[in-house]
Amino acid sequence: MADIPLPPGFTAQKMDQARKAFEAALGADKVFFEDIDRLGYSDKFAIDDDAHHPSGAIGPTSVEEIQAAVKIANQYRLPLWPISRGKNFGYGTAAPELAGSVVMDLSGMKKIEFDPVNGVATLEPGVGFYDLYDYLQKNDLPFWLSTPGNSWGSVIGNALDRGVGYTPYGENTKFLCGLEVVLPTGELVRTGMGAFEGAPTWGLYPFGFGPAWDQMFVQSNFGIVTKANMWLMPEPESLMGMDVEFDRPEDLKAMVDTIGPLRREGLLRQSPSIGNWLRAASILTTRDEWTDKPGALSDDVIDAIRKKFNIGWWGVSLRLYGREDMNKAAYKVLEREIGAIKPMLVKPASWVKGQPIERSAITGTPMTFPLQNANWYGGRGGHIGFSPILPQDGDKALAQFQRTYARYKEYGMDYQGSFAFGERHLINVNAMIIDKDNAEKMAKIDTFFRALVADAKANGYGEYRTHLDYMDLVARTYDWNDNALRKLNETVKNALDPNGILAPGKSGIWPKDLAGERKQ
Ligand code: ADP
Repeated sequence: MADIPLPPGFTAQKMDQARKAFEAALGADKVFFEDIDRLGYSDKFAIDDDAHHPSGAIGPTSVEEIQAAVKIANQYRLPLWPISRGKNFGYGTAAPELAGSVVMDLSGMKKIEFDPVNGVATLEPGVGFYDLYDYLQKNDLPFWLSTPGNSWGSVIGNALDRGVGYTPYGENTKFLCGLEVVLPTGELVRTGMGAFEGAPTWGLYPFGFGPAWDQMFVQSNFGIVTKANMWLMPEPESLMGMDVEFDRPEDLKAMVDTIGPLRREGLLRQSPSIGNWLRAASILTTRDEWTDKPGALSDDVIDAIRKKFNIGWWGVSLRLYGREDMNKAAYKVLEREIGAIKPMLVKPASWVKGQPIERSAITGTPMTFPLQNANWYGGRGGHIGFSPILPQDGDKALAQFQRTYARYKEYGMDYQGSFAFGERHLINVNAMIIDKDNAEKMAKIDTFFRALVADAKANGYGEYRTHLDYMDLVARTYDWNDNALRKLNETVKNALDPNGILAPGKSGIWPKDLAGERKQ
């Protein structure tokens, strides 16, 4: 990395002055502008290795230091990109949207406070899932986390990018209850009941009085979250359910049409995720153990892999959480409904408090093993996610899968897909596994991704989250009434952040002076 990337309008000299101002305010040990730092804060799974490099990073460890850094950023009109722990693999890792921005790394802020009666954790951004898990274990607190497939990251960071877990608290962002935020102009605000001096209900009632703003700071660039209350699930008395495998791609329809109603009526309260065979196999084996043929895997190879590991084309883990008596009654319904759609394999699971526990996402145990899928092709691996939102409708889910699978074949990619249930929707996460050492395949990813976005758009499906490269593309698909939502977002942006210093380009929201940076 020869040249230091600079934001528009910056000279190396001006950047040097800004760096010195950060050093004076925070101390040189919290300012990182070496080549190795720029590399450390780059996107490890980048499709285009030249995009999104920061000019450097700073690591404030208090609200006052954040405010001091924000003041400097305003003085120099220097874009800052806040991250909590920066493990957002597949969506940009720690890197900023706009090259030359300075990453504000909050991973040094690791304070945890806990209300053991209500199960409310008050967290700073640097608290990772492992930190919080250790804290609960050490203090013998009977509460469970809701962990994502890569739990290396921050609890707040995940909720702020709408990451999901698998327990009844799987939609993590819904369990935020009151934030503390440094605004782009440096003011400190608390949302919800936190606005009421001394209220004991900050972490209990999410709305406060008047407009409720928590979600305004989620997937946005309107503020730097310095603290958040999160509800944790009380440890249930029992767990019952089953791991189920289905044999054919077409079985997706019946799975969605059976699980969807159970989810909507509340018999199933968790967020189950239907995953295809490669989601399971990519952490157990690598492609070269099966074939050296380029192009998407043939059905023969897929069958051989499935046979070896005894996995279905699709699999799903279903669990009931709560009182044992209730779970036993609900299990009968689950068993009957799932049995009626002819699974290939059912592995019942049950647990009662006091017994040895299943250490997986089902029990909110932090994990990183799903990252192993980056090794599927060999070489320098990675993945990006294409993730449209669908209704809980079997025909529509199957059609979306078939369309997507056909595109994967057309572009010679092995298909890894999943369908995660919310209360009324599905998030269809498709992992595009990459090998950065395969130049020929890497050159196709951009066109492939854009084709998938266009297919989804044509069917009315928008993405829930996307990689830095595609934030403008996805924002453009949210186009009702001449992109009225984007205009609202940017009116708010310009009011709150007149100098456009905070995360320009995040979620396709650009401040007025950088509007020219919007990409096709
Ligand atoms: P994780 O470490 O959990 O993977 P990240 O720190 O990578 O999470 O955060 C994901 C995204 O969420 C970031 O790229 C950033 O846009 C946003 N974000 C994270 N932390 C904050 C924060 N404290 N304030 C505002 N936005 C944040």
